[in-house]
Amino acid sequence: MEQRVFGGTGKEVPVLGQGTWQMEEDDRDEAIRSLRAGLDLGLTHVDTAELYGHGRVEESIVSEAIAGRRKEVFLVSKVMPSNATYAGTLTACERSLKRLRTDWLDCYLLHWPGSHPLAETVRAFEKLVADGKIRSWGVSNFAVADLDELLTLTKPERIACNQVLYHLEERAIEHAVLPWCEERGVAVVGYSPFGNGRFPKPSSPGGRVLDAIARAHDATPRQVALQFLVRRPSLFAIPKASRVAHLRDNAAAVSLKLTSEELARIDAAFPTGAYSDQLPVI
Ligand code: NAP
Repeated sequence: MEQRVFGGTGKEVPVLGQGTWQMEEDDRDEAIRSLRAGLDLGLTHVDTAELYGHGRVEESIVSEAIAGRRKEVFLVSKVMPSNATYAGTLTACERSLKRLRTDWLDCYLLHWPGSHPLAETVRAFEKLVADGKIRSWGVSNFAVADLDELLTLTKPERIACNQVLYHLEERAIEHAVLPWCEERGVAVVGYSPFGNGRFPKPSSPGGRVLDAIARAHDATPRQVALQFLVRRPSLFAIPKASRVAHLRDNAAAVSLKLTSEELARIDAAFPTGAYSDQLPVI
């Protein structure tokens, strides 16, 4: 699995990871099998959050999937903004560690900007780093204005990543957020790479482009999409797959090599849209 330096952490992390949102709605045993198959195939960046299933995804799915394999995993969780005071962040992290049955997180994110002072959350993150509870921290759903505020509180190399919505039909980050992060060495983790299950239909104009490129490589349209979404060195993607067959399909995307002409065809088929410094979220 191709690895890339993950922002200021200096750590190499696989370009494709595994999401876990809404896994509590799926067959639990199959979801665990899928996550473990992902680890076998090198998709060791596992993304979860206290929010997911109100803690159930951490507690009964991710903890089980990583049991006995903790050192292989780059484990990411997130604090909800409503908990992100100084004390609230520390206790939310303790709760996640307990549910995940681990002593540390590799990266801990603020799930989205909230109303508590960002300075408190950052201070808590640094305390958690100092105490060895988390190895790095980052943010999620931060627009440029939020990132600028963050930069008044910390150095860019302390911000491991910004996890943001990014799929073929939602490329708004390319206007401002992605360049901001690239200039400062902050990793950009694209979430919902398949539009949270709303992938372009094969009969749509864009779907036909993906299909034609996929056929030329004996690949699948989703593999083509994933390769496009990680085409720049700052980019990572975290597709969610509760089914082993889906997981294997996604993992195979790493061996696909798209030509610059194919990338240009995808770019034209899924336009970025008008400039906006707003950040769409799910
Ligand atoms: P997604 O990865 O865009 O799509 C997941 C859906 O696609 C599931 O229904 C999955 O089915 C299906 N799928 C996956 N691989 C497939 C394949 N090869 N063929 C056919 N179908 C396939 O959706 P997402 O869960 O919204 O995003 C991914 C992760 O990003 C989340 O799980 C979460 O960890 C993270 N996220 C973060 C935020 C945030 O605010 N920070 C927000 C949203 C998501 P099965 O599951 O049945 O296999």
